[in-house]
Amino acid sequence: MADHVEAPLPALSGLEPAEVAAWLLDRGEPGYRLRQVLAWTWEQCVTEADQMRTLPARLRDDLARTYRVGAIVDTDVQPADRGLTEKALHRLVDGALVESVLMHYPGRPGRRARSTVCISSQAGCAVGCPFCATGELGFRRHLDSAEIADQVRFWAQRLIRDGGRLTNVVFMGMGEPLLNIDAVIAAAQALTDPARFGLGGRHITLSTAGVVPGIERLANLRPPWTLAVSLHAGRSELRDVLVPINRRYPVAAVVAAAARYARATGRRVSYEYVMIDGVNDTDRDAAEVAALLRGHLAHVNLIPMNPVAHTAWRPSPAARVAAFAARLARAGVPVTIRRTRGEEIGAACGQLVAGAHERSPGIIIEAAEPALRTSPRPSRRAADPAKRGSH
Ligand code: SAH
Ligand code: SF4
Repeated sequence: MADHVEAPLPALSGLEPAEVAAWLLDRGEPGYRLRQVLAWTWEQCVTEADQMRTLPARLRDDLARTYRVGAIVDTDVQPADRGLTEKALHRLVDGALVESVLMHYPGRPGRRARSTVCISSQAGCAVGCPFCATGELGFRRHLDSAEIADQVRFWAQRLIRDGGRLTNVVFMGMGEPLLNIDAVIAAAQALTDPARFGLGGRHITLSTAGVVPGIERLANLRPPWTLAVSLHAGRSELRDVLVPINRRYPVAAVVAAAARYARATGRRVSYEYVMIDGVNDTDRDAAEVAALLRGHLAHVNLIPMNPVAHTAWRPSPAARVAAFAARLARAGVPVTIRRTRGEEIGAACGQLVAGAHERSPGIIIEAAEPALRTSPRPSRRAADPAKRGSH
């Protein structure tokens, strides 16, 4: 492999508006150019300087020489579930592959349609949960904030083209967001900045395997984002196996940190619990989870495990899931059973396997559901039909 590869240009979506403003000012551009560049980047979600039609040609050329407008090199999209789910495989500048998933929830009486994108924060993951396909891949590298935000810009641009809009973002794709927390916070801030992507903060969910210092940092920041904690076991001996980072940050410390986040933000914490047949689904397990979470501002989501190629573990039978849920409910812990869909593409929040080598599992769609109950974002500028087909 060549070791003299040129460093890629910085990506525009990784810059703060003040940095873009300074660059424009340096070129003697009038003040309104900033608004134009931000609108093309974050409202129209374009990926080439040439698509910024309201800018003079020389400025577009200058821009293209200085920055990349898109941090993603190319993307392959696969539909599934009669179009309700779509998976994207994104290739990044260094050849790293990451996946994101778009999930459409059609509207119904009393509930507006939503489109949720599930994005990756790392290529691979170092945590190594044994039931997770991403964990099996191991860690390749962190994504930077532009690479994270551009997964959202990718889907937003397609939605704009088709007359729809993106309503929710969940960090439940590849990787552990709180082990890449600087880039994740920067991306979430760009996505919720009214001068940039402008998504309502309540429409963002961060899912973590339980990185205590990261949860504490978020609690101090007090964002309106939903925190989802991947619990999967109430007792440490079992959680040490299912979520190996529990050896570093034991479950009691994770729940205490999450409770601080709930107090600081007033936001209910979601606890994700993947139900694995005969592994973590007994009455004893339910009693331990109930004892851990009773009295907390918390909600448990039970998710039957999606089978993955590298383990013989299987989802708990429906009756077991129901019994587990009933026990939690009797103990006063709010609980929901989530369903799965999109199995044929292995699109998956939390179990993505970028690359050609996978035999893929199904998809956890509704793991993100608690974040999805609030009303959609305010309307954004109308779609520009000139952007059709640019991806
Ligand atoms: N690393 C973070 C976020 C990505 S994983 C975390 O672990 O929270 C997102 C969710 O998908 C987690 O709750 C994870 O436990 C879950 N998940 C992973 N593999 C799964 C599988 N095979 N079946 C069901 N859920 C799975
Ligand atoms: Fe990493 Fe989350 Fe998968 Fe665990 S479940 S290996 S933390 S992506």
